[in-house]
Amino acid sequence: MTPGKGAPAGTLPDGRRLRAISRRLLAWFAQSAREMAWRETGDPYRIWVSEIMLQQTRVEAVTPYYRRFVSAFPTLRSLAESSPDEVMKLWEGLGYYSRARNLHRAARIVEREHGGRLPGEPQALAALPGIGPSTAGAIAAIAFRKDAPILDANAKRVIARLFAVTGDLSRSSAARFLWGASRGLIPPGKGRETALALMDLGATVCTPRRPGCPACPLRSCCEGHRHGIQETIPAKAAKKVLPHHDVVAAWIAGGKGTVLIGRRPERGLLGGLWELPGGRRKPKETREEALRRVLREEWGMGVTVGDRLASLPHGFSHFRITLHAYRCRRTNGRPGTDREWLWVRPDGLSDLAFPRVYRKLIETVLPQRGGKSLRF
Ligand code: SF4
Repeated sequence: MTPGKGAPAGTLPDGRRLRAISRRLLAWFAQSAREMAWRETGDPYRIWVSEIMLQQTRVEAVTPYYRRFVSAFPTLRSLAESSPDEVMKLWEGLGYYSRARNLHRAARIVEREHGGRLPGEPQALAALPGIGPSTAGAIAAIAFRKDAPILDANAKRVIARLFAVTGDLSRSSAARFLWGASRGLIPPGKGRETALALMDLGATVCTPRRPGCPACPLRSCCEGHRHGIQETIPAKAAKKVLPHHDVVAAWIAGGKGTVLIGRRPERGLLGGLWELPGGRRKPKETREEALRRVLREEWGMGVTVGDRLASLPHGFSHFRITLHAYRCRRTNGRPGTDREWLWVRPDGLSDLAFPRVYRKLIETVLPQRGGKSLRF
């Protein structure tokens, strides 16, 4: 293997070496395992919820959401019987909302097709919405004590550094190697401990930046450390400048102090959440023109655009936006749109799930109105 020239494309380290690494890893885990709310349970349903919430999200952010979620839906059946709105409301602010939709859909499938019991085999788990191969492995290992490998971001980084796998880790030869190594690291009957140990080591010692090699239990058998290339693994993608869009939103008052809101289409970014009528400004369009166009084309209404109420920046994973909200007055037409829509009173806004930036907007605007009426 030549550091800096790409992964060893196939040959797995011999069993003795893998066993030596496992012994050190599991001995370290026995002393250093992190405490987490979802590690106090053996309930596959709760472990599944935690693994979905942990996808691309830090433990600290997940913990309060997890507690609220399992307290509202203590069983798989209670989740399956809930409404999409209840689920989305509990997910509000956690991001990557397709996870919540898929979790809900999967709960209903498990109720219908598996007699309400989450299957324990990785393949059957991976057939459910929102469960990829690594999450399937994690649930099978942690909840069902199967000797199933995982390859989440932490495990992938640790294993790639251990075996000095350089270059793009998503290429198929590297992925094959990493999965093979992950599987090879599991001593018989220790799938759960191995999965959790890889996760914990990646989160606390072999961190993305500045891995703590001096304190690492695997230092003496780590190729990445031996060659001094650990910080270059995984290879960083060239940093892209994220595109920026202006998004406009109309605060339209209705009767009895209500405001008009619409639900985003089920599929796509922030699907199923509520928002104010509006959309993305086109190049060369003013914000006011954008608002009038969107309201006319997508809502069948004419509006006059009044004062700007707020401008809020917000970042998504692949782009940034600034959300500009304007007070608008309806001049003609009524909401005529394929979307679900509502005239809602201020106290009803807190019961519905909004994307984080719209929630911030509501919290910015409502105090301006004394929180009482949205009539302008
Ligand atoms: S020695 Fe360093 S690079 Fe290797 S596994 Fe440990 S922390 Fe990661």
